[in-house]
Amino acid sequence: MDTQTTNHPGLAEVRERVAAAEKEAGRAAGSVRLIAVSKTFDAEGIRPVIAAGQRVFGENRVQEAAGKWPALKAETPDIELHLIGPLQSNKARDAVALFDAIHTIDRDKIAGAVAAEMARLGRSPRLLVQVNTGAEPQKAGVLPEETDAFVARCRSVHGLTIDGLMCIPPVEESPAPHFALLAKIAGRLGLESLSMGMSSDFETAIAFGATDVRVGSAIFGTRPPLV
Ligand SMILES: *Cc1c(COP(=O)(O)O)cnc(C)c1O
Repeated sequence: MDTQTTNHPGLAEVRERVAAAEKEAGRAAGSVRLIAVSKTFDAEGIRPVIAAGQRVFGENRVQEAAGKWPALKAETPDIELHLIGPLQSNKARDAVALFDAIHTIDRDKIAGAVAAEMARLGRSPRLLVQVNTGAEPQKAGVLPEETDAFVARCRSVHGLTIDGLMCIPPVEESPAPHFALLAKIAGRLGLESLSMGMSSDFETAIAFGATDVRVGSAIFGTRPPLV
C-alpha cells in the first residue's frame, strides 16, 4: 500500500485537536472517527485531504455526492463515505449504493425504503437514527421521546440494525445538553455510535462520548454560501 502522505494544515490541526480531546476525556487514542465533511467542495478541493491520508468523508446531499465521489473512490478504493444530510425515499437506492453509513434515518418511510434497497443491492451501510434533540419544527429527526419506539420499529418492522444516534443541536443553544441527551438515549438503547459534534463543538461532543465527529469548515476552510 502507498503510505506516502502530504501535509494538509487544516486536517493536521483537527486531527491534533481530536487526539487532545480524546486524551482529555480519558478515552482511547483513535476511538473517535473523524468524518471530513466535504459538501460544496469539488474533487480538486477534496484530493489534497485524501492525499494527506484522510479516508472518511461526509456529504449531506445524495445527488452532489453521486456527482463527485464515484471517480474519487475509483482513485482511492478504501474511502468510507457517510451521508449526514436528509434522505428522501426516492434517493434511497442511490444512497445505499454509494454510502457506507447513513446517519439520517428518521421515519418509517425512509427506514422501509433503505431496507428494500439494501436487500436489492446486497449492501449493508451502517445506519444511525437522527434525533431532533431541540424539537425544532424545521429540523429533521425523530423527537427524543419517540426515539425508543422508532428504533424498535426499525428492527422489528424493517429488519434494520441501528448502530447509533446522530444529532445537530440548535445553533443558538449550548450544545452540551443536547450531546448529553443523545448519549443518554443511546445508552438506554444499548447503541454504540454517537454522531455528534461539528467544527465549532467537536471537542465538547468528544467529552460527551461522540464516536463520530462531523467536521467540515475547520478542515476545508469556509464554505461558499449556499444559493
Ligand atoms: C455541514 C455539516 C457539518 C459540518 O459543519 P462544519 O461546521 O463545517 O464543521 C456537520 N454535520 C452536518 C449534518 C452538516 O450538514
